[in-house]
Amino acid sequence: MDSQRHIARHVRPIPKSGIRDFFEVVQNMTDVISLGIGEPDFDTPWNIREAAIYSLEQGRTHYTSNLGAPALRNAIAKYVGKHFDIAYDPQTEVIVTVGVSEAIDLALRALLNPGDEVLYHEPCYVSYSPSIVLSHGVPVPVATRAADQFRVTAKAIAQKITPKSRVLMLNFPTNPTGGTQTREELAKIAKLCVKHDLVVLSDEIYSELTYDGAEHVSIATLPGMRERTVFLHGFSKAFAMTGFRIGYACAPAPLTDAMMKIHQYGILCAASTAQDAALEALENGAPAVDAMRGKYQARRNFIVRSLNDLGLECLLPMGAFYAFPNITSTGLSSREFSLGLLKKKKVAVVPGSAFGASGEGFVRCSYATSLDEIKIAMKRMGEFCRELKGNGA
Ligand code: PLP
Repeated sequence: MDSQRHIARHVRPIPKSGIRDFFEVVQNMTDVISLGIGEPDFDTPWNIREAAIYSLEQGRTHYTSNLGAPALRNAIAKYVGKHFDIAYDPQTEVIVTVGVSEAIDLALRALLNPGDEVLYHEPCYVSYSPSIVLSHGVPVPVATRAADQFRVTAKAIAQKITPKSRVLMLNFPTNPTGGTQTREELAKIAKLCVKHDLVVLSDEIYSELTYDGAEHVSIATLPGMRERTVFLHGFSKAFAMTGFRIGYACAPAPLTDAMMKIHQYGILCAASTAQDAALEALENGAPAVDAMRGKYQARRNFIVRSLNDLGLECLLPMGAFYAFPNITSTGLSSREFSLGLLKKKKVAVVPGSAFGASGEGFVRCSYATSLDEIKIAMKRMGEFCRELKGNGA
């Protein structure tokens, strides 16, 4: 029997993640230094792990409210109010999810009718385009450029708006470029959203990880935007809690209610242990976040300086934990560069093309790995580049 023909038409053409595909190769090799993974190298801070253990000890192993435990929703509303200056009602406007991944899926499924167009800036997180397709939407990438610090402009978005445009996805600081956004440009984008009646999914998962005092502004705070923004955030990155699979969405009650219907029937509720750990993160996790941010900043400074010294032009990213150097001077495609570096020098980076067509010519180097490992990786990358030029063998 040809099982393929049973698979839904919109699922069949979706490619597997370019990152996962690449890491299949890495897994079969030894002694590889990986700058490829998009997750903190730090273990979850001990007080947060302890809260999870204590939660289990207390027998807190039952379903919670579908929206999430009330204590956690209260803490989320307080945290978002304090750090982002947006007021949400914890009773009706906050939903706890299985990571930001689930929150993105819920929001898209709640908002899209078949054929609706979703704009998003690219290069971007690998799940955006497939998630849109899985929700029967049409992905409309808006290319960003290194020359603009990878900031999407209102002008570029405006050029892609059609009568079918419904949603705009934003992610600042950005995976994979580390780009951030200015208040001025966000204000222009906000005006555009109001004019064209777009809903914004604002993925702010890296917002605690900004450097050199860079200001993080949520578009939800700008005039006319709270009512049309789904604010997405989680614990994976800043609190080093990827394996807990916990995040949240905040939005006006009718939108939260719509997301809740999908969450209720598909997931029921996020894991109770993870919810208790998340509560501890919000209440007492700040010192650990500050300490990790300090380490990321030192690594960022080193890796960006090293890449530029190697002749791989790289902007100083103001957020997240990725450097995104331009590798076109080597004459290789991003995939050729990444595969060559892996096979010859055992350093894993991710080809920029995995993040959309406009990522071609770049590779993503995560600095969520120790400074010692980064130093070895840069040495090996230097050898690789010199050998490519034919004068270092
Ligand atoms: N959004 C962005 C921009 C990401 O980079 C990631 C993970 O890499 C996610 C969402 C998914 O995060 P979570 O672990 O909360 O599902």
